[in-house]
Amino acid sequence: MTTSTTSLSGPEDRGVAGWARALRARECSAVELARAYLDRISAHRELNAFLALDEERSLEQARRADERLAAGDASPLLGVPLAHKDVFVTRDFVTTAGSRMLAGYRSPFDATVVARLGHGAPDQGPGAGMVTLGKLNCDEFAMGSGNENSAYGPVLNPWSASRVPGGSSGGSAAAVAAGLIPAATGTDTGGSIRQPAAFCGITGIKPTYGRVSRYGMVAFASSLDQAGPMARTAEDCALLLSAMCGPDPDRDSTSLDVPAEDFSRALDAPLDGLRIGLPKEFLGEGVAPDVRAAVDAALAELQRLGARLVDISLPRTELAIPVYYVLAPAEASSNLARYDGVRYGHRARDYADLIDMYEKTRAEGFGDEVKRRIMIGTYVLSHGYYDAYYLQAQKIRRLIADDFQRAFEVCDVIAGPVAPTVAWPRGGHRADPLADYLADVFTLPASLAGLPGMSVPAGFGEGGLPVGLQLIGNYFQEARLLNVAHRLQQVTDHHLRRPAGF
Ligand code: GLN
Repeated sequence: MTTSTTSLSGPEDRGVAGWARALRARECSAVELARAYLDRISAHRELNAFLALDEERSLEQARRADERLAAGDASPLLGVPLAHKDVFVTRDFVTTAGSRMLAGYRSPFDATVVARLGHGAPDQGPGAGMVTLGKLNCDEFAMGSGNENSAYGPVLNPWSASRVPGGSSGGSAAAVAAGLIPAATGTDTGGSIRQPAAFCGITGIKPTYGRVSRYGMVAFASSLDQAGPMARTAEDCALLLSAMCGPDPDRDSTSLDVPAEDFSRALDAPLDGLRIGLPKEFLGEGVAPDVRAAVDAALAELQRLGARLVDISLPRTELAIPVYYVLAPAEASSNLARYDGVRYGHRARDYADLIDMYEKTRAEGFGDEVKRRIMIGTYVLSHGYYDAYYLQAQKIRRLIADDFQRAFEVCDVIAGPVAPTVAWPRGGHRADPLADYLADVFTLPASLAGLPGMSVPAGFGEGGLPVGLQLIGNYFQEARLLNVAHRLQQVTDHHLRRPAGF
């Protein structure tokens, strides 16, 4: 392999599985591979996908991977590059969560996900040995659907610079779609892995809540936040998820006591007799015709592969929007109370007294959307309104989860669109924050229920923009979702298409 930037375009973008094989066969070294991808990253700064880069640190990680490879370490992902959404704290890179509030913040430890995918931690074993190439732009504190809420500027969609890449993991999706990295981590509270994956034409999975440790993830809404992988293929996502998962009892009490699985084991399983539930609420008039056409085409492929389509109903789908936009801000208002200028990041320069320092720090450090959520959250938790909003939303959240259990009595997997439209024009929702909220309608229900959900490229719609098929499984059915996605990817090539210029 050469290290010229062109070597990674087109078919040379081998993905996680392909590069893992190449490294093991000594076709290239981890250092050469990291170098080549870093060159691609610096050649495409216009996307604004990366917030932090540190070539020396990355190359140092790559050298360690090469040493482990030379020593015969058989860890399957050893030496493969990736980048992390900037909500995972890292020792080697600054972490900002897309906020001015955390400008220049350097964590003294790595998030569990970062340690597990990277070179481990003293008390956590050696890690998978992947090489971190930097930190990826995102909506501030992961609040948003278009990556326009980052304090460090918007990310461009590589399929069309005038469109949003989706959010909040927009940097992750854009970087993978543009081939700047083979894989990325993302976080999904209400759709932030699935929706940007759909808008950028890549594959992403949000696992069952509790599968992946939240330790070291900058908290947004703790009862919903979940990490997951974003990559070109389901096969790559399976490899990454296998390395990310597993209990972390001393650091995240909500991490489930379920051993990590090999999510690649069932990728090739036949789909004969698989019952795919189609919620009528996901396929109604709110869905744009181009999205509907691509989703229908993907469903037809799955039928050809042996799956059976079953009509189902998730009657509280629309309620997921008000429920989520009460609960997530409520949790955020509490989680974000820690940013007061005393311990982390930004502190106002001039202030009269302590209260004035808090107020100025928060006024300067938070962007508009974050302030809006803190105010909504504080309101719905306040004494007079708690029963009417927060408590009510908690009850409906439970009913939404019950609806899914009823649906899974008659189907194995649920399918539908990830979002009602393809990526919208940048600036298009500026005057109307509610438009962002409404576009989350199909991703929020699985989040509220804690179910695994995934986005798989289904084709292209208006303006040649990608469309994502959403697959939702019952708890712990990630291997099933990855199996369905992988079989679909064996008979389609949407996930292999590259945006022009990349
Ligand atoms: N778009 C949703 C929000 O703004 C979801 C974000 C997320 O999943 N982090 O809250």
